[in-house]
Amino acid sequence: MALTGLEIYKHLPKTNCKDCGIPTCLAFAMKMAAKQVALEKCPHVTEAGKAALESASRPPIQLVVIGTEQAEVKIGNETQLYRHEEKFYRPTAVAIRVSDALDGKALAERLEAIGRLSFERVGTRIRAELIAVDNVSGDAGKFERAARLAAEQTGRACVLISARADHLKRAATALAGRRPLLYVSDPAQAVAAAQVAKDQNCPLAVRAEGLDALAELTPKIAAAGVEQIVLDPGTRGLKATLEALTRIRRLALKGFRPLGYPAIALTADPDPIMQSIEAGTYVAKYAGIVVTDAVEPWQILPVLATRQDVFTDPQKPVAVEPKLYAVGEAGSDSPVLVTTNFSLSYYSVEGEVEASRVPAYIVSVDTEGTSVLTAWASDKFNAATITKALKNAAVDQKVTHRKLVIPGLVAVLSAGVEDESGWSVQIGPKEASGIPAYLKKQWKA
Ligand code: SF4
Repeated sequence: MALTGLEIYKHLPKTNCKDCGIPTCLAFAMKMAAKQVALEKCPHVTEAGKAALESASRPPIQLVVIGTEQAEVKIGNETQLYRHEEKFYRPTAVAIRVSDALDGKALAERLEAIGRLSFERVGTRIRAELIAVDNVSGDAGKFERAARLAAEQTGRACVLISARADHLKRAATALAGRRPLLYVSDPAQAVAAAQVAKDQNCPLAVRAEGLDALAELTPKIAAAGVEQIVLDPGTRGLKATLEALTRIRRLALKGFRPLGYPAIALTADPDPIMQSIEAGTYVAKYAGIVVTDAVEPWQILPVLATRQDVFTDPQKPVAVEPKLYAVGEAGSDSPVLVTTNFSLSYYSVEGEVEASRVPAYIVSVDTEGTSVLTAWASDKFNAATITKALKNAAVDQKVTHRKLVIPGLVAVLSAGVEDESGWSVQIGPKEASGIPAYLKKQWKA
């Protein structure tokens, strides 16, 4: 468990010298407990104090870095069991598995298919960022060739999966400098694989049958010189894996160091729909990495969308910049629609305008990232804020008409907006899905 400010304070020099840039040692301790300052900022803390404060400065779940530069992926460093208590920091990395038993052409096609799995959602591009190369063939040469092709063709970081430490060594050497995650699936090979991971400067994932065996294994891996460890509790199947992931997270947050590492979960169900459900479940609770065979867009998009939702800050609404947006070749006679700057509201409207193929302007009003009805109820989406947004965006210089489409849910605002802005208000549909029909059949400049 993280220490409180007062517990940290006991181990500080208590001289209030201000060398850390903070007026008092107590204030420093409080900031440190809130993770706003690192212990290194105090140059006077004793070695004994440092040792005692290790649990306050070291995260309960080790940070693990896979890949380098553009392909770098970080997992771990989480501090919460429940997202609403603070937030989750490191989005689960999604790895799509490829078998080294595929022939060259089939492997290249599968990698190409994975490369196409990239989607735009609420203004952000989402994709699976890892390729998991599985040594299904049991052949070291095939494993090395597949690893090399996966890394070079996709440019993404890799997870190298094998039961044998010597096979991992050969593939990792081929990817030298790319920092793949080495995953040794045979617990008996784990210590040998740790030596490979240490020599290649790679993180290591280890598997053991159950949490007790895992807790016994990780100190041996750490003693071999590998700090960045990923845990596989050896379970397969949704219920057992979910239980194991939850127990690992709980124990890690309680300060149980042998399990203070991110976890990896492998989907196992042969059913394609269950592959997607399994992966999405592990993203939500509490995998650092999910390895899946799901390679169809309909399988992987729900997993990535779940990740995007779970790893937003629950205290900070996802918002777009409040301004004027043009959709298509909008011109002087194009419709002008108004909505809030809540991402889901804005992108729902934008998506439907695009689908209508009627070029239009959208004015996004600053409602601090709240949706139409919430913003209206809290008086952030009203005649004054809509008029201000119209003026700030200089919409009157873009169109020659003065007609504004407001959401049907807030039709009650129409008279006030007309009075305040001087624009004529038209009541749009209540749901964004009604926009295409509305723009095609009802709207007139
Ligand atoms: Fe206290 Fe250390 Fe800051 Fe000085 S530098 S005020 S001793 S915390």
